[in-house]
Amino acid sequence: MDHVKLTSDKPNPRVCGGCTACCTVYPVAALNKKAGVTCQHVCETGCAIYSTHPQECKTYECLWRSNHLGTDEDRPDKSGVIFGSNFDQELGLILYAQEFREGSIKKLMPLIQSIARCNLVYLAYCHNKNNVVMGPMNRATQLSEFLEAKNVAFQSQ
Ligand code: SF4
Ligand code: SF4
Repeated sequence: MDHVKLTSDKPNPRVCGGCTACCTVYPVAALNKKAGVTCQHVCETGCAIYSTHPQECKTYECLWRSNHLGTDEDRPDKSGVIFGSNFDQELGLILYAQEFREGSIKKLMPLIQSIARCNLVYLAYCHNKNNVVMGPMNRATQLSEFLEAKNVAFQSQ
């Protein structure tokens, strides 16, 4: 479980530095920015409107930035994958790994497998092809409706 700190403790957060991956990968409703389109406010230092950027930008933090997983080298712009989490009332915590450079999830598989020994991880590949959920086998039954609705397969760890 090296480089994975998925506890309720809040480790010292990192800084985004030169990464602006989420400013392209995710939509920003307040700016009418669509997923996959680079925000018009991205600049060399990060965000050109940092002091006034929308609330959804202020509150967003990927799991690399919050320092919950990965090494410094796994920063999303370098790794090609953004890790995040969602909390579902029935399923509990589901992590997701959103790939935005083809082949990047494959390179991070050792880290993802170590996370999936104890957690559910939704792997969202580029172009949304062959998405899969990885996790402990004892969660598969509980997940069945979710998997069916999303039309994804389950891989046990
Ligand atoms: S993907 Fe993470 S590290 Fe990169 S800019 Fe967004 S919050 Fe910062
Ligand atoms: S407003 Fe700034 S933080 Fe928000 S998506 Fe655009 S560049 Fe990123």
